[in-house]
Amino acid sequence: MSNVRRGRLVVVSGPSGVGKGTVLKHVLERDDFVYSVSATTRNPRDGEVDGVNYFFISRDKFEDMISKDEFIEYAQYNGNYYGTPRFFVEKMLSEGKNVILEIEVKGAMQVKKVMPEAIFVFIAPESREILEARLRGRGTETDDVISGRLKIAENEIRACLLYDYIVINRDGAIKECADDIVCAVKSDSMKPSNMYNCVSDFFN
Ligand code: 5GP
Repeated sequence: MSNVRRGRLVVVSGPSGVGKGTVLKHVLERDDFVYSVSATTRNPRDGEVDGVNYFFISRDKFEDMISKDEFIEYAQYNGNYYGTPRFFVEKMLSEGKNVILEIEVKGAMQVKKVMPEAIFVFIAPESREILEARLRGRGTETDDVISGRLKIAENEIRACLLYDYIVINRDGAIKECADDIVCAVKSDSMKPSNMYNCVSDFFN
């Protein structure tokens, strides 16, 4: 196992409603990516499955996991906890898999501190109107929740400059957006800091 090249951690953020889930589904169809399932204290939406979309857990359990340092990062979002369990991510990276974290901005910035070598990608909407229409069209949240999410979205979009790459999810162009993410990961892997080991034999 020791000479397996470590996988890359890919941190993806974007405002609620931008279509992260659908875009990432396309990215995950390429077999060298795996998805890290987060834990959350929010209630499941219709159709969401425990252990697939999230590990749906109680606040007590979440706080117990925090105290045992079992998260790489965690944050509160719209009144609920969300966090990335450490065990799965470490295992997959050590097996050479590229791991995708779909997390909000505060959590992404925590990852940047502890794993600065990760690749940070921000998915932006085409416009505010399109984002709002998508949130309303989803029909799964109340008006209050939607307004909360739009307010958070404004702040999140301001934070896009802290990421390595910004991709836009245009209406009807989900596959192109997924291709852009794969392309960003590939380009990043060719940076000298990631490639130097491959050429350094030349000097021996
Ligand atoms: P939702 O409730 O719509 O599934 O997710 C709300 C927000 O929480 C989204 O921006 C999503 O990316 C983020 N999120 C999901 N899992 C995690 C996680 O493990 N950590 C953090 N920090 N954010 C997460």
